[in-house]
Amino acid sequence: MINVSPKCIGCNKCVPVCPFAAIQLIDKKAVINEACTLCGACVQVCPVQAIEISREETATRDLGGYKGVWVFVELVEDRAVGGAAKEGGQPAHAKQGRKIRPVTFELLSIGRKLADQLGEELCAVLLTDKNYGYEKDLGAYGADKVYLVENPELYEYNTDIFSTAIVALTHKHKPSIMLYGATIMGRDLAPRVASSLYTGLTADCTALAIKDGQLLQSRPAFGGNIMADILSPRSRPQMSTVRPNVMKLSDPIYGKIAVTVREDIKIDKGLRRVKVLERKLEKADAGVKLDEARVIVSGGRGMKTKERFKHLEELCRLLGGVVGASRGAVDMGLKDKTHQVGQSGTTVSPKLYLSFGISGAVQHIVGMKASDVIVAVNNDPDAPIFNVAKYGIVGDAHEIAPKLIEALKKRKP
Ligand code: SF4
Ligand code: SF4
Repeated sequence: MINVSPKCIGCNKCVPVCPFAAIQLIDKKAVINEACTLCGACVQVCPVQAIEISREETATRDLGGYKGVWVFVELVEDRAVGGAAKEGGQPAHAKQGRKIRPVTFELLSIGRKLADQLGEELCAVLLTDKNYGYEKDLGAYGADKVYLVENPELYEYNTDIFSTAIVALTHKHKPSIMLYGATIMGRDLAPRVASSLYTGLTADCTALAIKDGQLLQSRPAFGGNIMADILSPRSRPQMSTVRPNVMKLSDPIYGKIAVTVREDIKIDKGLRRVKVLERKLEKADAGVKLDEARVIVSGGRGMKTKERFKHLEELCRLLGGVVGASRGAVDMGLKDKTHQVGQSGTTVSPKLYLSFGISGAVQHIVGMKASDVIVAVNNDPDAPIFNVAKYGIVGDAHEIAPKLIEALKKRKP
């Protein structure tokens, strides 16, 4: 329920920000009509806190009315995607505009499975100043429908503007599940939307499934020592963020185009409390980044010294890969934190992941298990890393790495 108290001074600030034209000034007082979706945008701008929203107790909400799996589409400048046009990524369709961040396609891939299990639609939510035919790629990765809000105010990400639009769409269509990338943008947007909707949010999920019609959200907890399974039985939508490279990308089916549903949501620039005054481009790192690497050679505590770690660097050079490290190796000072693979480092999904002297703590496994082929070398046959490895060698990393180097050198012309 929404109510305007006698404190209203008739300043008119709330009228232009309402995305649904639900407020009128009558006799110098704000009056709210039935078009209100309880999005909360007017509450933020009222200078005298005259607008109050009281929410239904979650236990009394009709959860059966919430249907569909939604994925927030993240758009970025081409340069921010960098080399992300990796295999399975997107074609360059948007020379004039921004590109879809690859994590969106990963979310659509898992979202498709969830929607199929529920027998519901998979929808992409696209907020942009201009649509450059994004629905082709979104459809190819499984979206049935694209909710498109096209508005000049959506030319760049802004917390207030984007969250207001998504909250408004959510009130209108009532999705059951909403997924966001655990990127800088997603980590800013999803909590804001969740708090406006009075619902929960599970951050950095590493697995998503359907259990008894509900979203089962799994993520490491207690420093990565255990996996927690989280259900939201009394709130909707069920919201999760997922880090890039955690979910497997499905093969795109080009030709399947999502149905575009244009949503006319009024967005007033008065909602924008933060303005970007200047942008500075930092020089891109010349080296390949871990999250984009096709081959990663990683070392753990078992490498013991920096000298021994150099074998892995040489192996890496021969394979054209990037050097990774477990948290243990970083804690020992064998490599710096920028090389750390895992929940508290970078989540990766290369074609080939070679692991030396890594036992396989949960927080490491969740950061690399999406790799296509994992080869593990460890002298403990019971090391958990072998549970996710396709090929395992029980042996001393310091003996095996030089042998691999020798073999590779022999193969090189
Ligand atoms: Fe306020 Fe949002 Fe309702 Fe408009 S729709 S009156 S902005 S809560
Ligand atoms: Fe009244 Fe507040 Fe709206 Fe101003 S912003 S008209 S004080 S309800």
